[in-house]
Amino acid sequence: MTTYFHNIKEIKQLLRAEGLSVNKRLGQNFLIDQSVVTKMIAAADVNQQDTILEVGPGLGALTEAIAEQACLPAGRADRVLAVEKDRQLATHLNKRFSRQENIEILSQDIFKLDFITAGLGDRNYKIVANLPFYITSHFLRFILEAEAKPTELILIVQKEVAKRVVAEPGDHSLLSLSVQFYGEPKIITVVDRRSFYPPPAVEAAILKIKVYPQPAIKVDDIENFFRLLKISFASRRKQLHNNLAAGYKISGQEAQKILVSANLDPTRRAETFSLNEWEKLYNSVVIHKK
Ligand code: SAM
Repeated sequence: MTTYFHNIKEIKQLLRAEGLSVNKRLGQNFLIDQSVVTKMIAAADVNQQDTILEVGPGLGALTEAIAEQACLPAGRADRVLAVEKDRQLATHLNKRFSRQENIEILSQDIFKLDFITAGLGDRNYKIVANLPFYITSHFLRFILEAEAKPTELILIVQKEVAKRVVAEPGDHSLLSLSVQFYGEPKIITVVDRRSFYPPPAVEAAILKIKVYPQPAIKVDDIENFFRLLKISFASRRKQLHNNLAAGYKISGQEAQKILVSANLDPTRRAETFSLNEWEKLYNSVVIHKK
């Protein structure tokens, strides 16, 4: 595998030579550890049929590895679409990869991407990204709720966020339930801060999410289901029936009835419920609101 840079000295030289600088406001922490790149590619199981959407290619460490045949046992990806918000970096990447016909660089904000025009409308693509930490939750919601969802996401995120995403009943949050509603998350490995330049303030992790063809549970209206989750987690210290009463503007008694008729203990807190229990509760809310 040819690598463009190997260490902090080379990355600094590259930035200087190209007149580029690190924009911290865009969450720029460039990968300098080849072993992390290799683990990302292995987790994505990149092969010749793949279309990969990369969010924030930066200086192209991952882009190069995904698109180059030499480093991939199953062959290079068929198409790599890399969307970079920093215009200077996008210009640099366009120049750098101008001869690589399976790479397209788009200079734009990922949240403004038109998936149909970008040729991702058929949902048959994977996302590989070392995400800017500050967009993680917003990005997960954006992409998992999109019409054109990917089949898999292989992401570098803050370690603490990865742990919250894979949480089980007892530790659930709006974040873990929103992700697990759409897919199966797994932490592949923890990534040391020193794998990046500049190093972020906290440790990171590789998080893989396999997106289900259909959500994990059956609900008749996804928007209403998420409203129930938001209401239920509005105050973490309260028992669930109190949150339900406040959120739906019903009496405490009515809220308890909704829980009891779904065979759920009304004194429990929202974080203890499994997704299957949320399905039961949601259906009970629907019946009581009719
Ligand atoms: N992929 C590169 C790597 O691993 O070295 C860079 C990763 S860096 C953590 C995040 C990248 O995302 C930066 O290049 C940043 O400019 C870009 N970025 C930040 N916000 C973005 C957005 N809304 N849309 C697209 N790219 C964004």
